[in-house]
Amino acid sequence: MKFPPFSYACPTSIAEAIELLNDDEDSRPLAGGQSLLPMMALRVAAPGMLVDLGGIDMLRQSAVLPDSMRIGAMVTHAANAASLDIWMHFPLMSQALHHVAHQAVRNRGTFGGSIAHADAGAEMPLVVSALDGMLLLQGPGGARALPAADFFQGHYTTAIEPGEILTGVELPFSGMDWAFEEMARRSGDLAIAMAAAGVRVEDGICREARLMFGSISDRPIRAAEAEAYLAERELTPSVIREAAAMAASGIHARSDTHASADYRLSLATALMRRALTRLATGAM
Ligand SMILES: Cc1cc2nc3c(=O)[nH]c(=O)nc-3n(C[C@H](O)[C@H](O)[C@H](O)COP(=O)(O)OP(=O)(O)OC[C@H]3O[C@@H](n4cnc5c(N)ncnc54)[C@H](O)[C@@H]3O)c2cc1C
Repeated sequence: MKFPPFSYACPTSIAEAIELLNDDEDSRPLAGGQSLLPMMALRVAAPGMLVDLGGIDMLRQSAVLPDSMRIGAMVTHAANAASLDIWMHFPLMSQALHHVAHQAVRNRGTFGGSIAHADAGAEMPLVVSALDGMLLLQGPGGARALPAADFFQGHYTTAIEPGEILTGVELPFSGMDWAFEEMARRSGDLAIAMAAAGVRVEDGICREARLMFGSISDRPIRAAEAEAYLAERELTPSVIREAAAMAASGIHARSDTHASADYRLSLATALMRRALTRLATGAM
Protein backbone atom coordinates (compact mmCIF):
# COMPACT_ATOMS: atom_id res chain seq x y z
CA MET A 1 0.00 0.00 0.00
CA LYS A 2 1.16 3.58 -0.62
CA PHE A 3 1.92 5.91 2.26
CA PRO A 4 -0.64 8.59 3.08
CA PRO A 5 0.71 12.06 2.18
CA PHE A 6 3.02 13.65 4.76
CA SER A 7 5.63 16.37 4.98
CA TYR A 8 9.12 15.81 6.32
CA ALA A 9 11.62 17.74 8.41
CA CYS A 10 15.10 16.77 9.53
CA PRO A 11 16.18 19.01 12.43
CA THR A 12 19.78 19.00 13.67
CA SER A 13 19.12 19.88 17.32
CA ILE A 14 16.77 18.68 20.05
CA ALA A 15 15.41 22.22 20.49
CA GLU A 16 14.55 22.45 16.77
CA ALA A 17 12.84 19.03 16.87
CA ILE A 18 10.71 20.06 19.84
CA GLU A 19 9.76 23.31 18.13
CA LEU A 20 8.69 21.46 14.97
CA LEU A 21 6.67 18.92 16.96
CA ASN A 22 4.93 21.67 18.89
CA ASP A 23 4.23 23.84 15.82
CA ASP A 24 2.24 21.04 14.20
CA GLU A 25 -0.12 18.90 16.30
CA ASP A 26 -0.24 16.33 13.53
CA SER A 27 3.51 15.69 13.55
CA ARG A 28 5.31 12.63 14.88
CA PRO A 29 8.97 11.84 15.61
CA LEU A 30 10.60 9.40 13.19
CA ALA A 31 13.47 7.26 14.50
CA GLY A 32 14.49 4.10 12.62
CA GLY A 33 11.05 3.88 10.97
CA GLN A 34 10.89 0.11 11.50
CA SER A 35 7.53 0.31 13.29
CA LEU A 36 6.15 3.71 12.27
CA LEU A 37 6.62 3.32 8.50
CA PRO A 38 4.90 -0.12 8.29
CA MET A 39 2.07 1.32 10.39
CA MET A 40 1.75 4.23 7.94
CA ALA A 41 1.83 1.89 4.96
CA LEU A 42 -1.01 -0.08 6.58
CA ARG A 43 -2.84 3.20 7.38
CA VAL A 44 -2.84 2.42 11.09
CA ALA A 45 -1.01 5.75 11.56
CA ALA A 46 -1.24 8.82 9.33
CA PRO A 47 0.83 11.69 10.75
CA GLY A 48 0.81 14.85 8.63
CA MET A 49 4.48 15.49 9.30
CA LEU A 50 7.46 13.31 10.19
CA VAL A 51 10.16 14.93 12.30
CA ASP A 52 13.21 12.78 11.57
CA LEU A 53 15.44 12.55 14.65
CA GLY A 54 18.24 11.02 12.54
CA GLY A 55 20.00 14.38 12.04
CA ILE A 56 20.52 15.00 15.78
CA ASP A 57 24.00 13.68 16.63
CA MET A 58 23.50 14.07 20.39
CA LEU A 59 20.76 11.43 20.37
CA ARG A 60 23.23 8.87 19.04
CA GLN A 61 25.68 9.31 21.90
CA SER A 62 26.08 7.07 24.93
CA ALA A 63 28.30 7.60 27.98
CA VAL A 64 29.54 5.47 30.85
CA LEU A 65 29.10 7.42 34.12
CA PRO A 66 30.44 6.46 37.60
CA ASP A 67 27.36 4.39 38.60
CA SER A 68 25.33 4.15 35.42
CA MET A 69 25.35 4.38 31.66
CA ARG A 70 23.37 6.84 29.57
CA ILE A 71 22.29 5.45 26.21
CA GLY A 72 21.07 7.84 23.51
CA ALA A 73 17.60 7.29 22.09
CA MET A 74 18.84 7.08 18.47
CA VAL A 75 21.47 4.39 19.11
CA THR A 76 20.48 1.45 16.93
CA HIS A 77 19.84 -2.05 18.26
CA ALA A 78 22.84 -3.21 16.18
CA ALA A 79 25.17 -0.62 17.78
CA ASN A 80 24.00 -1.59 21.27
CA ALA A 81 24.46 -5.27 20.45
CA ALA A 82 28.05 -4.54 19.41
CA SER A 83 28.82 -2.31 22.42
CA LEU A 84 31.47 -3.71 24.79
CA ASP A 85 30.22 -1.34 27.54
CA ILE A 86 26.74 -2.84 27.30
CA TRP A 87 28.14 -6.37 27.20
CA MET A 88 30.17 -5.67 30.34
CA HIS A 89 27.66 -3.69 32.41
CA PHE A 90 24.28 -4.96 31.17
CA PRO A 91 24.44 -8.66 30.29
CA LEU A 92 20.64 -8.73 30.42
CA MET A 93 20.47 -6.22 27.56
CA SER A 94 23.10 -8.05 25.52
CA GLN A 95 21.18 -11.32 25.86
CA ALA A 96 17.83 -9.71 25.01
CA LEU A 97 19.16 -7.85 21.95
CA HIS A 98 19.83 -11.17 20.20
CA HIS A 99 16.07 -11.74 20.17
CA VAL A 100 15.15 -8.36 18.62
CA ALA A 101 14.01 -8.88 15.04
CA HIS A 102 16.62 -9.63 12.33
CA GLN A 103 19.91 -7.93 11.49
CA ALA A 104 18.34 -5.66 8.81
CA VAL A 105 15.79 -4.33 11.33
CA ARG A 106 18.41 -4.05 14.09
CA ASN A 107 20.58 -1.95 11.74
CA ARG A 108 17.90 0.78 11.57
CA GLY A 109 15.62 0.25 14.57
CA THR A 110 16.61 2.29 17.63
CA PHE A 111 16.69 1.81 21.38
CA GLY A 112 14.54 4.92 21.95
CA GLY A 113 12.13 4.07 19.14
CA SER A 114 11.47 0.66 20.64
CA ILE A 115 10.87 2.17 24.09
CA ALA A 116 8.66 5.01 22.81
CA HIS A 117 6.69 2.55 20.67
CA ALA A 118 6.07 0.37 23.78
CA ASP A 119 4.94 -2.78 21.99
CA ALA A 120 4.05 -5.25 24.75
CA GLY A 121 6.00 -7.96 22.91
CA ALA A 122 9.23 -5.93 22.58
CA GLU A 123 12.39 -6.70 24.53
CA MET A 124 13.80 -3.23 25.35
CA PRO A 125 10.84 -2.07 27.53
CA LEU A 126 11.36 -5.22 29.64
CA VAL A 127 15.11 -4.58 29.86
CA VAL A 128 14.85 -0.96 31.00
CA SER A 129 12.13 -1.92 33.51
CA ALA A 130 14.14 -4.81 34.98
CA LEU A 131 17.22 -2.58 35.27
CA ASP A 132 15.23 0.25 36.95
CA GLY A 133 16.11 2.65 34.11
CA MET A 134 15.27 6.36 34.12
CA LEU A 135 13.67 7.58 30.90
CA LEU A 136 14.98 11.01 29.87
CA LEU A 137 12.42 13.24 28.18
CA GLN A 138 12.58 16.71 26.73
CA GLY A 139 9.71 18.92 25.66
CA PRO A 140 8.56 22.54 25.51
CA GLY A 141 8.42 22.63 29.33
CA GLY A 142 12.05 21.48 29.69
CA ALA A 143 13.66 18.17 30.62
CA ARG A 144 12.30 15.53 32.99
CA ALA A 145 13.22 11.99 34.00
CA LEU A 146 10.72 9.23 34.72
CA PRO A 147 11.32 5.78 36.23
CA ALA A 148 10.45 2.95 33.84
CA ALA A 149 7.71 1.81 36.25
CA ASP A 150 5.81 5.08 35.57
CA PHE A 151 6.67 5.33 31.88
CA PHE A 152 5.01 2.22 30.39
CA GLN A 153 1.24 2.59 30.67
CA GLY A 154 -0.04 -0.10 28.31
CA HIS A 155 0.34 -1.60 24.84
CA TYR A 156 1.66 1.26 22.62
CA THR A 157 1.01 3.70 25.50
CA THR A 158 3.62 5.66 27.45
CA ALA A 159 3.88 8.78 29.61
CA ILE A 160 5.44 10.78 26.72
CA GLU A 161 3.43 14.01 26.39
CA PRO A 162 2.56 15.41 22.95
CA GLY A 163 5.49 17.48 21.69
CA GLU A 164 8.01 15.65 23.89
CA ILE A 165 10.81 13.38 22.76
CA LEU A 166 12.67 10.63 24.53
CA THR A 167 16.32 11.69 24.46
CA GLY A 168 17.81 8.63 26.15
CA VAL A 169 17.78 6.26 29.07
CA GLU A 170 19.99 6.16 32.15
CA LEU A 171 20.60 2.61 33.37
CA PRO A 172 22.14 2.17 36.83
CA PHE A 173 24.71 -0.62 37.29
CA SER A 174 22.98 -3.38 39.23
CA GLY A 175 25.98 -5.50 40.25
CA MET A 176 23.78 -8.57 39.71
CA ASP A 177 24.01 -11.62 37.45
CA TRP A 178 21.24 -11.78 34.86
CA ALA A 179 19.53 -14.35 32.68
CA PHE A 180 17.00 -13.68 29.92
CA GLU A 181 14.64 -16.25 28.38
CA GLU A 182 12.14 -15.79 25.56
CA MET A 183 9.67 -17.84 23.60
CA ALA A 184 8.65 -16.65 20.11
CA ARG A 185 7.09 -18.73 17.33
CA ARG A 186 9.98 -17.97 14.95
CA SER A 187 13.38 -16.41 15.46
CA GLY A 188 13.04 -12.61 15.16
CA ASP A 189 9.31 -12.54 15.89
CA LEU A 190 7.93 -10.48 18.75
CA ALA A 191 7.87 -12.55 21.95
CA ILE A 192 4.91 -14.56 23.19
CA ALA A 193 6.46 -14.49 26.66
CA MET A 194 9.77 -13.33 28.15
CA ALA A 195 11.36 -13.59 31.58
CA ALA A 196 14.33 -11.73 33.05
CA ALA A 197 15.92 -12.75 36.34
CA GLY A 198 18.67 -10.93 38.21
CA VAL A 199 20.30 -12.18 41.43
CA ARG A 200 23.05 -11.08 43.78
CA VAL A 201 24.40 -14.20 45.46
CA GLU A 202 26.84 -14.08 48.38
CA ASP A 203 28.14 -17.15 50.25
CA GLY A 204 25.73 -19.30 48.25
CA ILE A 205 22.68 -17.29 49.39
CA CYS A 206 20.58 -15.03 47.19
CA ARG A 207 20.73 -11.59 48.85
CA GLU A 208 18.68 -9.70 46.26
CA ALA A 209 16.55 -10.71 43.28
CA ARG A 210 14.79 -8.93 40.44
CA LEU A 211 12.22 -10.79 38.38
CA MET A 212 10.41 -9.32 35.42
CA PHE A 213 8.06 -10.66 32.76
CA GLY A 214 7.41 -9.23 29.32
CA SER A 215 4.75 -9.82 26.69
CA ILE A 216 2.35 -11.63 29.00
CA SER A 217 0.53 -8.42 29.89
CA ASP A 218 0.16 -5.00 28.25
CA ARG A 219 3.42 -3.77 29.83
CA PRO A 220 6.45 -5.21 31.68
CA ILE A 221 5.41 -6.82 34.98
CA ARG A 222 7.60 -7.04 38.09
CA ALA A 223 7.14 -10.08 40.35
CA ALA A 224 7.75 -8.32 43.67
CA GLU A 225 6.38 -11.07 45.93
CA ALA A 226 8.64 -13.70 44.38
CA GLU A 227 11.62 -11.30 44.59
CA ALA A 228 11.03 -11.00 48.35
CA TYR A 229 10.63 -14.79 48.64
CA LEU A 230 14.06 -15.39 47.06
CA ALA A 231 15.91 -12.99 49.36
CA GLU A 232 18.11 -14.85 51.92
CA ARG A 233 17.38 -18.24 50.34
CA GLU A 234 19.64 -20.68 48.57
CA LEU A 235 18.68 -21.15 44.91
CA THR A 236 17.80 -24.84 45.17
CA PRO A 237 15.57 -26.53 42.56
CA SER A 238 12.57 -26.47 44.92
CA VAL A 239 13.07 -22.79 45.83
CA ILE A 240 13.35 -21.94 42.11
CA ARG A 241 10.19 -23.89 41.29
CA GLU A 242 8.28 -22.13 44.06
CA ALA A 243 9.58 -18.67 43.07
CA ALA A 244 8.71 -19.14 39.38
CA ALA A 245 5.17 -20.30 40.21
CA MET A 246 4.73 -17.42 42.67
CA ALA A 247 6.06 -14.91 40.14
CA ALA A 248 3.47 -15.78 37.49
CA SER A 249 0.50 -16.19 39.84
CA GLY A 250 -2.04 -13.39 39.99
CA ILE A 251 -0.94 -11.78 36.70
CA HIS A 252 -3.78 -10.74 34.43
CA ALA A 253 -2.33 -12.17 31.20
CA ARG A 254 -3.37 -11.04 27.72
CA SER A 255 -4.89 -13.25 25.04
CA ASP A 256 -4.39 -12.62 21.33
CA THR A 257 -4.14 -14.49 18.05
CA HIS A 258 -0.69 -15.80 19.03
CA ALA A 259 -1.49 -17.29 22.44
CA SER A 260 -4.17 -17.55 25.10
CA ALA A 261 -3.72 -16.00 28.55
CA ASP A 262 -3.34 -19.44 30.18
CA TYR A 263 -0.71 -20.52 27.65
CA ARG A 264 1.23 -17.29 28.25
CA LEU A 265 1.18 -17.84 32.01
CA SER A 266 2.48 -21.42 31.76
CA LEU A 267 5.20 -20.27 29.38
CA ALA A 268 6.13 -17.41 31.71
CA THR A 269 6.47 -19.82 34.65
CA ALA A 270 8.68 -22.18 32.62
CA LEU A 271 10.83 -19.32 31.29
CA MET A 272 11.36 -17.87 34.77
CA ARG A 273 12.29 -21.30 36.11
CA ARG A 274 14.78 -21.74 33.30
CA ALA A 275 16.30 -18.26 33.87
CA LEU A 276 16.72 -18.87 37.61
CA THR A 277 18.15 -22.35 37.02
CA ARG A 278 20.74 -20.89 34.65
CA LEU A 279 21.74 -18.38 37.34
CA ALA A 280 21.87 -21.06 40.06
CA THR A 281 24.06 -23.36 37.98
CA GLY A 282 26.23 -20.58 36.53
CA ALA A 283 25.11 -21.57 33.02
CA MET A 284 25.06 -18.02 31.68
C1 LIG B 1 10.06 -7.51 10.69
C2 LIG B 1 10.19 -6.81 12.02
C3 LIG B 1 10.42 -7.59 13.15
C4 LIG B 1 10.53 -6.96 14.39
N1 LIG B 1 10.76 -7.74 15.50
C5 LIG B 1 10.96 -7.15 16.69
C6 LIG B 1 11.27 -7.93 17.84
O1 LIG B 1 11.38 -9.15 17.81
N2 LIG B 1 11.44 -7.26 19.02
C7 LIG B 1 11.33 -5.89 19.11
O2 LIG B 1 11.51 -5.34 20.19
N3 LIG B 1 11.04 -5.15 18.04
C8 LIG B 1 10.87 -5.73 16.84
N4 LIG B 1 10.59 -4.95 15.74
C9 LIG B 1 10.49 -3.50 15.92
C10 LIG B 1 11.87 -2.82 15.88
O3 LIG B 1 12.61 -3.19 17.03
C11 LIG B 1 11.75 -1.31 15.84
O4 LIG B 1 13.03 -0.84 15.70
C12 LIG B 1 11.19 -0.58 17.05
O5 LIG B 1 9.99 -1.06 17.50
C13 LIG B 1 10.91 0.88 16.75
O6 LIG B 1 12.11 1.52 16.62
P1 LIG B 1 12.33 2.55 15.46
O7 LIG B 1 13.61 3.25 15.79
O8 LIG B 1 12.24 1.87 14.16
O9 LIG B 1 11.12 3.59 15.71
P2 LIG B 1 10.07 4.21 14.68
O10 LIG B 1 9.39 3.13 13.93
O11 LIG B 1 10.70 5.29 13.89
O12 LIG B 1 9.06 4.86 15.74
C14 LIG B 1 8.21 4.07 16.53
C15 LIG B 1 7.31 5.00 17.35
O13 LIG B 1 8.05 5.65 18.39
C16 LIG B 1 8.01 7.08 18.24
N5 LIG B 1 9.37 7.53 18.55
C17 LIG B 1 10.50 7.03 18.02
N6 LIG B 1 11.58 7.59 18.60
C18 LIG B 1 11.10 8.47 19.51
C19 LIG B 1 11.73 9.36 20.45
N7 LIG B 1 13.06 9.42 20.57
N8 LIG B 1 10.95 10.13 21.23
C20 LIG B 1 9.58 10.04 21.13
N9 LIG B 1 8.94 9.21 20.27
C21 LIG B 1 9.69 8.45 19.48
C22 LIG B 1 7.58 7.33 16.81
O14 LIG B 1 6.92 8.57 16.68
C23 LIG B 1 6.66 6.15 16.57
O15 LIG B 1 5.39 6.40 17.11
C24 LIG B 1 10.45 -5.54 14.50
C25 LIG B 1 10.23 -4.76 13.35
C26 LIG B 1 10.11 -5.40 12.13
C27 LIG B 1 9.88 -4.53 10.90
